Amino acid sequence: MRISLSDQQAQFRDDIRSFLATELPTDIAGKVRLNRGVGKEDVARWTKILNHRGWAAPGWPEEHGGTGWSLIQRHVFDVECRRAQAPVLSGFGFNMVGPAIIKYGSEAQRKRFLPRILNADLWWCQGYSEPEAGSDLAALLTTAVRSGDDYIVNGQKIWTSGAEFADWMFCLVRTDGKVQKQKGISFLLIDLTSPGITIEPLYAFNGKRLWNQVFLDDVRVPVVNRLGEENRGWTVAKSLLGDERLMVSRVAENKRMFGLIREVLGAETANGVDVETQAIRGKLAELEIRLCALEMTSLRLLSAADGGGPIGAEPSMLKLKGSELVQAMDELLFEAVGHWVLPLDVTAAADGNRAAVGPDYAEFVASGSYHHRGYTIAGGSSEVQHNIIAKQVLGL
Ligand SMILES: Cc1cc2nc3c(=O)[nH]c(=O)nc-3n(C[C@H](O)[C@H](O)[C@H](O)COP(=O)(O)OP(=O)(O)OC[C@H]3O[C@@H](n4cnc5c(N)ncnc54)[C@H](O)[C@@H]3O)c2cc1C
Repeated sequence: MRISLSDQQAQFRDDIRSFLATELPTDIAGKVRLNRGVGKEDVARWTKILNHRGWAAPGWPEEHGGTGWSLIQRHVFDVECRRAQAPVLSGFGFNMVGPAIIKYGSEAQRKRFLPRILNADLWWCQGYSEPEAGSDLAALLTTAVRSGDDYIVNGQKIWTSGAEFADWMFCLVRTDGKVQKQKGISFLLIDLTSPGITIEPLYAFNGKRLWNQVFLDDVRVPVVNRLGEENRGWTVAKSLLGDERLMVSRVAENKRMFGLIREVLGAETANGVDVETQAIRGKLAELEIRLCALEMTSLRLLSAADGGGPIGAEPSMLKLKGSELVQAMDELLFEAVGHWVLPLDVTAAADGNRAAVGPDYAEFVASGSYHHRGYTIAGGSSEVQHNIIAKQVLGL
C-alpha cells in the first residue's frame, strides 16, 4: 500500500508552508521549539493571525468561520503547523465547547460566543471531573437547582486545566438526581467572574500550575446559559462535531518530537557526547516505525471518513497509540540528554532564578515529559480506551 499526497494536496501543503514561513512570529516559534513558557498571550497572538487568515478553526463548518477542509487537509495543516513550531490553539474553545455550541447552541449563543472564541477574546476551561467522578464521569455530584430564570449551582470540580486564565467554564451539573445517572445531567456555560466561584491551584510534578479545583457555592447561572435541553447534557458532552473525534492521533506532535530527538542527538554528538550508540539507534528506529504505522493508520481512517465511512472504535485506537508514542519519545529524549535535564520547569521556579545548566534543548525535557504523563489519562485513560476497543472491536 502506498499512501502519498495527491498533487493538489501537495500544493495545499506548500501554501500552508509559505504562510507559516511568513506569518508565524519567530519569537513564539522559538519558545515552542524548546517547550519554553508559551503563555496565553503568545497563543492569543497566533490565534488572531490565523483567524485573520480564516484558518483558526479548520474543523468548524464554513458558515461559522471554519475552512471547509477535508480531514486529510486538516491533518496536513496540523503537521505543518507543528513542523514550523506553531503553538497549539486552545482545545477547550476550538475543539470542545465551540463545536458543541455550533451543534446545540441557540442562535443567540452562537452569535455571542463563536466570534470571540475564533479571535481568542474568550477563553474556556472544562468543568467535567470531580473528586468522585473521573472515568465514571456520569457519577458527578455538582447540582444545579432551578430558581426562576437561574440555576443555583453547588459543588466542586477538579483537574480543571487553565481555569486560572479562563473567562468561562463549560460544566456538567446534575439537574435530576432521581433518574438513571446519565439522564439527569445538564450542560451549563458559566461565567467565572460570577459570585460564589473560588479557584484554587493544583501543581504538577514539574512545579507548574497545570490544574485547579473550582468550588461553586450558590452560583447563579442564567438558564439561557444552558447548552441543549435540560437533562440532555450527557449527549452534548459526549458529542464532538462528527469526525472531530478522529483528530486525536497526535501524529503531528509525534513528528515534531521525532524531529527534536534527531536534532538533539545530532547536537550532542557534535559536542562529543557518545549518544549515537547501537542501543539508541535501535530505539530511534523503533520509534520511527511506530510513527509511520500511526500516520499510515491515521491517514487511512481519515480518508475513509472523508469518503463518508462510519466511525467506530477508531478514535480510541488512535488516542491510545498516539499518546503512548509521545511518552516513548519522551523516554528516548530523556535517555539522550538525561545528564542535562532539570526536574522542574525553570519558568515555574518560585525564585525565578533557576538557571539552566546545559544546552537550551535539554532545559525543558523533564518538564515536557512530566506533562505528557497526563496524555494517557486525560480525555479517557488508556485502560478506558482498551475497554472500548475490547467491547466494540473484539466483542468481549
Ligand atoms: C493532564 C490532565 C488534564 C486534565 N484536564 C482536565 C480538565 O481540564 N477538566 C476536567 O474536567 N478534567 C480534566 N482532567 C481529568 C481527567 O479527565 C481525569 O483524570 C480522567 O477522567 C480520569 O479520572 P480520575 O483521575 O478520577 O481517575 P479514575 O477514574 O479514578 O481512574 C483511576 C485509575 O483507574 C482506572 N480505571 C478507571 N475506570 C476503569 C475501568 N472501568 N476499567 C479499567 N480501569 C479503570 C483508570 O484508567 C486509572 O488508571 C485532566 C487530567 C489530566 C491528567
